[in-house]
Amino acid sequence: MKALDELTFDNRFARLGDAFSTHVLPDPLDEPRLVVASNAAMALLDLDPAVADTPVFAELFSGHKLWAEAEPRAMVYSGHQFGGYSPQLGDGRGLLLGEVYNAAGEHWDLHLKGAGMTPYSRMGDGRAVLRSSIREFLASEALHALGIPSSRALCVIGSSTPVWREKQERGAMVLRLAPSHVRFGHFEYFYYTKKPEQQAELAEHVLNLHYPECREQPEPYLAMFREIVERNAEMIAKWQAYGFCHGVMNTDNMSILGITFDFGPFAFLDDFDAHFICNHSDHEGRYSFSNQVPIGQWNLSALAQALTPFISVDALKEALGLYLPLYQAHYLDLMRRRLGLTTAEDDDQKLVERLLKLMQNSGVDYTLFFRRLGDESAALAVAKLRDDFVDLAGFDAWAELYKARVERDGDYSEEQRRERMHAVNPLYILRNYLAQNAIAAAESGDYSEVRRLHEVLSKPFEEQAGMEQYAQRPPDWGKHLEISCSS
Ligand code: AMP
Ligand code: MG
Repeated sequence: MKALDELTFDNRFARLGDAFSTHVLPDPLDEPRLVVASNAAMALLDLDPAVADTPVFAELFSGHKLWAEAEPRAMVYSGHQFGGYSPQLGDGRGLLLGEVYNAAGEHWDLHLKGAGMTPYSRMGDGRAVLRSSIREFLASEALHALGIPSSRALCVIGSSTPVWREKQERGAMVLRLAPSHVRFGHFEYFYYTKKPEQQAELAEHVLNLHYPECREQPEPYLAMFREIVERNAEMIAKWQAYGFCHGVMNTDNMSILGITFDFGPFAFLDDFDAHFICNHSDHEGRYSFSNQVPIGQWNLSALAQALTPFISVDALKEALGLYLPLYQAHYLDLMRRRLGLTTAEDDDQKLVERLLKLMQNSGVDYTLFFRRLGDESAALAVAKLRDDFVDLAGFDAWAELYKARVERDGDYSEEQRRERMHAVNPLYILRNYLAQNAIAAAESGDYSEVRRLHEVLSKPFEEQAGMEQYAQRPPDWGKHLEISCSS
């Protein structure tokens, strides 16, 4: 276990130099205070969780203090936003403080979001509000606990600094951890600004640090792109299987590591709705729940375009062609497990699709349906769940198919079925209204609800005593919350 001043830095991205990032010091927040910290994320840095309660912790992660070895930098990148190219984005309010490596030899980027203005702030104020920082913190750690690849969050520090959005709010910072903060948009920036040497340097950096096994391949860059395609297919399959809607799948928000990145107006589905749009400024539904699958491919094509100086178009196309079949395989595998199946049959995809259609038509709670399906034998479970459906005949027909399928699947006890299904079907997810409750309390100075919710979501598959209120469908007020897109 380390104390805060014992972190070991090795700032590899900073060493790429001024063409890639700009030195900027964090602009401190007034009266910093710890809102919430993640013990699991602290462990990634070998930090003793007790350090979160020391005053220096809040000072370090609100811009007041800095390690001598830290080299805060704002990264430059660009990206496609809602389908259109934005030539210059970059860290407008976040800073890469440095890279820390832990005892296991893993490197973690320390990124402080809300740290003030940078050369890339454009019209923005460089700040993040408490509300959006809490949402990013909760989501990062909750996705990770569900087994969905994601950036992590160490802590949220609140303050008394006023920040103007639709109304006056308070500034906060979230400390984000990820093995890399390189986005698709980094490659696009150097491609569209026609800087092939720097683009090659960036590609070498990512290849050496994050895809070293691709070095062994005859075409290392192509092998790396293929790996990125595979990781994205798997990540998006998990989003779809667990009902996660990202909301702003611009290429500047897509990680080169295939991890969920940059949390804005995201949401988990309550009722199943394939057409759900969580981002209220997304009028066309470009980033609707079901569109995430083709958009994943669109984003990979944008990255492929930026890689044309290194890889032939035919090879890129072939690699892109892997995306959909891989996505489908991962998705179906997860959905089979969510249904409690251990074997594969040709008609399983249809079984899933039919169920989702019935859930869509009846507005059935996506998370609780699967959890309850695993509570008991298939026959008893479907008999109880039947009441949630409007189209009873439709559900009965599906239930017959399902029971027969479970029968053919294998001979296992009710206990085995429950254990297996509960291990993949969470009881607790980050519902928007739960986040909203925690935010409202935090905005009035009470951080206990954020901390409790974070705790509950860190073990989403385990039933926790006294936490029934976190495993309910939303109350009426919480069903169609408009989550502000300002952050
Ligand atoms: P996002 O929608 O949060 O992914 O941000 C898109 C771009 O806008 C990124 O370059 C951000 O750094 C920048 N940005 C977002 N909010 C602010 C802000 N309050 N101040 C400065 N830049 C911002
Ligand atoms: Mg972003």
